[in-house]
Amino acid sequence: MPLKSILNQLQKFKSFVYANVVWSASGQELEVHLRPRKNSRPVCVECRRPGPIYDHQRQARRFEFVPLWGIAVFFVYRMRRVDCPDCNRVVIEQVPWGDGKHRTTTTYRWFLANWAKRLSWQEVAVISHTSWQTVYRSVRYAVLWGIAHDTWKNVVSIGIDEIAWRKGHKYLTLVYQIDEGRKRLLFIAEERTQEALHRFFDRLLPEQIVELKFVVSDMWRNYLDVVRDRAGNAVHILDRFHVMKKLNEAVDQVRRDETRRLKADGYEPVLKQTRWCLLKRPENLSDRQTVTLQELLTYNLRTVRAWLLREDFQRFWEYRTASWAGRFLNEWMTRTLRSRLEPLKKVALSLRAHRPLLLNWFRANGALSAGVVEGFNGKAKLTMKKAYGYRTHEALQIALYHTLGKLPEPNFTHRFW
Ligand SMILES: [Zn+2]
Repeated sequence: MPLKSILNQLQKFKSFVYANVVWSASGQELEVHLRPRKNSRPVCVECRRPGPIYDHQRQARRFEFVPLWGIAVFFVYRMRRVDCPDCNRVVIEQVPWGDGKHRTTTTYRWFLANWAKRLSWQEVAVISHTSWQTVYRSVRYAVLWGIAHDTWKNVVSIGIDEIAWRKGHKYLTLVYQIDEGRKRLLFIAEERTQEALHRFFDRLLPEQIVELKFVVSDMWRNYLDVVRDRAGNAVHILDRFHVMKKLNEAVDQVRRDETRRLKADGYEPVLKQTRWCLLKRPENLSDRQTVTLQELLTYNLRTVRAWLLREDFQRFWEYRTASWAGRFLNEWMTRTLRSRLEPLKKVALSLRAHRPLLLNWFRANGALSAGVVEGFNGKAKLTMKKAYGYRTHEALQIALYHTLGKLPEPNFTHRFW
């Protein structure tokens, strides 16, 4: 079966035909020559209307297609120019396998973009014998197409998260749809300002805002304010992941303060051992260090106590009703505020200030799964880590949408991947 008829089966064009398939001059590539069907008129690339031919370009243009048996394949076609009566000027024609600007066929771009979901962009470039730039442009094309064709239908629950990048100097605001059966990244904005989140709500139609039932976020003031203003009817919940993250940071702060104090008091050599080991094996300490176990226990107890308070807070999420959880919260607050562990007290105070939002978790009544924002956060971080070479902010956003967005794709007559 000639290649031509295979191509006709996989991807047939209304106004163009495959003329022949030949080796390129170098003998390294396959060239699929195309020509217009008889009596077909070129279509203006601007207004997409057919018009009379003005002339043919002197040189044929090459568009890279999906490789075959490891051999690069190119579509070769001499573009026509249209004397467009609607645009009132001479314009290049529109071809169905690509567009004038790209040197790759649309099919090849989708091919690369789909592989880029499974492999790094660099790996896709290497196995496809193409450049990182071409892979990036293909992914970008797929993402922009997806965003343009996406409808935010039936979004009932959203999760708002922020993520640090460039070593914490910059933040992104990420909004996820977290409904059962439909979990995906919806929106990315630069910074974590009020304005950033406003931009998400600006994209929602009034009826879509009414549909919103649950909004999950952390205690970041900017987010709290915007959610209150823009989604006042939804139940706003402080989610488990962010609350526990704050507590973890507080425990770590206690540990670091304590470490510093030990150092200042001349116990630095001791610190080279792990502190747990230290507690177990005091007999290993040299005389010179003159460490009294009692002293060390006092020091370590701060970290241990902080850690225990954090562990205890896990119980909060296991309650079935807000009233019992509220009672637990009171009791935990009292203990924590008396603990003299400043970083934990700080978290406890802000939790107390947002008590209703914290207890809203129980109003959602199991409609939301606890780990979903955390899961996305992990995946987003992984995407950023793999983002070797994403020097620009745009590339990072494209990668995040591509991996987490579950964006729509066109209906293909044949998928080449
Ligand atoms: Zn036109």
